[in-house]
Amino acid sequence: MIIVMKVGSPEAEIERLSDDLSTNWGLTPEKIVGKHKVVIGLVGETAGLDPLQLQEMSPFIEQVLRVEKPYKRVSLEYRHGEPSDIPVTTPEGTVYFGHNRPIVVVAGPCSVENEEMIVETALRVKAAGAKFLRGGAYKPRTSPYAFQGHGESALNLLAAAREASGLGVITELMDADDLEKLSEVADVIQIGARNMQNFSLLKKVGAQDKPVLLKRGMSATIEEWLMAAEYILAAGNPNVILCERGIRTFDRQYTRNTLDLSVLPVLRALTHLPIMIDPSHGTGFAEHVPAMAKAAIAAGTDSLMIEVHPNPAKALSDGPQSLTPDNFDRLMNDLGAIGGAVNRWQQPVPVPV
Ligand code: PEP
Ligand code: MN
Repeated sequence: MIIVMKVGSPEAEIERLSDDLSTNWGLTPEKIVGKHKVVIGLVGETAGLDPLQLQEMSPFIEQVLRVEKPYKRVSLEYRHGEPSDIPVTTPEGTVYFGHNRPIVVVAGPCSVENEEMIVETALRVKAAGAKFLRGGAYKPRTSPYAFQGHGESALNLLAAAREASGLGVITELMDADDLEKLSEVADVIQIGARNMQNFSLLKKVGAQDKPVLLKRGMSATIEEWLMAAEYILAAGNPNVILCERGIRTFDRQYTRNTLDLSVLPVLRALTHLPIMIDPSHGTGFAEHVPAMAKAAIAAGTDSLMIEVHPNPAKALSDGPQSLTPDNFDRLMNDLGAIGGAVNRWQQPVPVPV
């Protein structure tokens, strides 16, 4: 349930109302400050409450509305239709993910392999306009015999690349035991597709402060995905970015997954959270990444995640879907044209290649 306050409601009245709601009604009010209005979100035992009775609690209440969806805090209604901005601290200042913000590009290798490759990739993607470096230290691999990531030592290499490039770092957390050391380097914590419904992990990242990138499970419905995000918000962390990375397909020959770009308009109508599209895992082939990245911008994505490797043929994971730095430069050049057309491009003016 949400209480929409009238424009210009006195702060003291909002406080009084919130106190009343928690002390006398046993609710947990959450104050959400929008651009124009303040909304008080109420989650808990609200089924038996009468909106008209609540309405009488203050002359400054404009409306009391029920959130009918099973997900509450992530629903668009919860912020009364206003998209949220997710601020992320990076070495070069705060970068915002949001629907009214420039598109944020995240790029880098699937796995952190050694210092030279991660620093080189970071400098190249930064020069092309990326704002974040991605790279896995802990890799969720289908086979236990495949490269599992260099673990803690790779976190140190990410720290070196962060320092050298000034980029923010996004890296995946697989095990809650690694949260503390991973948080020392990660500016955004990635929860991978395979852990989207690892509810104990979701509660743990919900109970800490770093923003979370929540990838869609490979067979997850949109509602399951939003309910997973709800776990993180319910545990106290409002800063979640949703990442579509392709869903399981029957055609494994020509595409690794089916990149579901329809989530862009669908999620936009359901949630205030920002959306990222990952065409690298979404298609599995470097040659298909540019078309889907362009389509994602045209369809309204807030962010893109692109795998880039200095030598894809030698990559320890996901080489076939990784762009070379030169191809990434070309892609960013093309994306600038589309991003500019939708007024959402703030990267450096691309140089002709
Ligand atoms: C990744 O980003 O490298 C990754 C493993 O992604 P996903 O969880 O989407 O498979
Ligand atoms: Mn990968």
